[in-house]
Amino acid sequence: MLFKRAQKLIPGGVNSPVRAFTAVDTFPAFIARASGSKLYDVDGNAFVDYVCSWGANIVGHAHPEIVAAVTETAQNGMGFGAPTEYELALAEKILAALPGMEQLRLVTSGTEACMTALRLARGYTNRCKFIKFAGNYHGHSDSLLVNAGSGPAAHSISSSKGVVPNLIKDTLTAEYNSSQAVKDLVFAHKGEIAAIILEPVVGNSGFILPNSSFLNTIRQICTDEGILLIFDEVMTGFRVAWGGAQTIFGIQPDLSTLGKVIGGGLPIGALAGRAEIMSLLSPCGEVYQAGTLAGNPIAVSCGLKTLEILERAASFPKLASYQEQIVAGISKLAIKHCLPLQASGLGGIFGIFFSEHPVANFADAKKSCQKSFQEFFGTMFASGIYLPPSRFEACFVSLAHDSSDLSNTLSAVDHSFAQIANSRNL
Ligand code: PLP
Repeated sequence: MLFKRAQKLIPGGVNSPVRAFTAVDTFPAFIARASGSKLYDVDGNAFVDYVCSWGANIVGHAHPEIVAAVTETAQNGMGFGAPTEYELALAEKILAALPGMEQLRLVTSGTEACMTALRLARGYTNRCKFIKFAGNYHGHSDSLLVNAGSGPAAHSISSSKGVVPNLIKDTLTAEYNSSQAVKDLVFAHKGEIAAIILEPVVGNSGFILPNSSFLNTIRQICTDEGILLIFDEVMTGFRVAWGGAQTIFGIQPDLSTLGKVIGGGLPIGALAGRAEIMSLLSPCGEVYQAGTLAGNPIAVSCGLKTLEILERAASFPKLASYQEQIVAGISKLAIKHCLPLQASGLGGIFGIFFSEHPVANFADAKKSCQKSFQEFFGTMFASGIYLPPSRFEACFVSLAHDSSDLSNTLSAVDHSFAQIANSRNL
């Protein structure tokens, strides 16, 4: 079996931890190919895909226009380590969508984008400390890997071994959605905080929306205290709306990080911000950052074509409509089966928690029922529905999801909830 072979060759058999399915106590399917809304594993099983390459795939797998664009670019060479016009086209498109962001640098992952944003904020402010939120995930660079959501949460480690205390001594953590916690930290460390970094809408503690005043309050605190506000939109950028959460909530951060959708499934990340701040990056400024494969033409063409397709009329209403129908359908089925459940979504992303109480932060998310989630995941998987294998991940939809995917998904949910309700009553 492939997973056994993989476990000999690769730690845990996977090249990124959450793929190992350990949080749902099973092992992963090996994927052979994908098309539209479906994944096909090596045994020929088909799945309706709600992972969408962890959000990167938003137009549907193997979209013919994207395959054509990537092929055409590849025919002219895989990359040159020199500037190309593709990079300018992608930068123009992204910056036009994010009011307030004036310059952009492409990197190869969301991790790099967030790591660089933090270094830049420290370089710009000449301050060391920063605030992040429990359960927000900003990639795996040392000082950001503290109280992180996503994979580290599923594996019950709040930070990683090997991250030496010196590297995280300036990382301050607050509870998400608590303006008071932020005020307290800023007061206690007045004049010392370089940045506040957050997922404006959280996808790495499961899916959590900001409360009505949270983002505005943080923006105001940052402006008043000379702190840079970093919106990590690696997951939400061009997924909750054209642009991202900042366009929905009408808040301009000082720096934004992006990834996933802007590469359409190929490795990419980006860091955008006000020119005054971005001009501190090397070679014009003293904050160093570089990358052999940064702005790789194939990844950039893939991202550019993805954004071109996404920009067409009605893409976001279509994504939101599918998401809203699925959230409403799941909520209705939970009532039918008397299961305590919280479901919510925004644009092309949604999530559920098996919980009686609304979930506003990571502490709430951790109180949701792991056993029910595990049973839910297992029964959905057996019915051909591919969900993220952890209750601390969000679900994603694409433009390729259609009404038959919706009805198949909801009938699988009905069947799954019946089983969960039954096992609760045993
Ligand atoms: N920031 C957020 C909000 C993310 O969701 C992720 C990855 O899931 C990252 C940063 C890290 O991105 P990457 O996995 O591309 O390094």
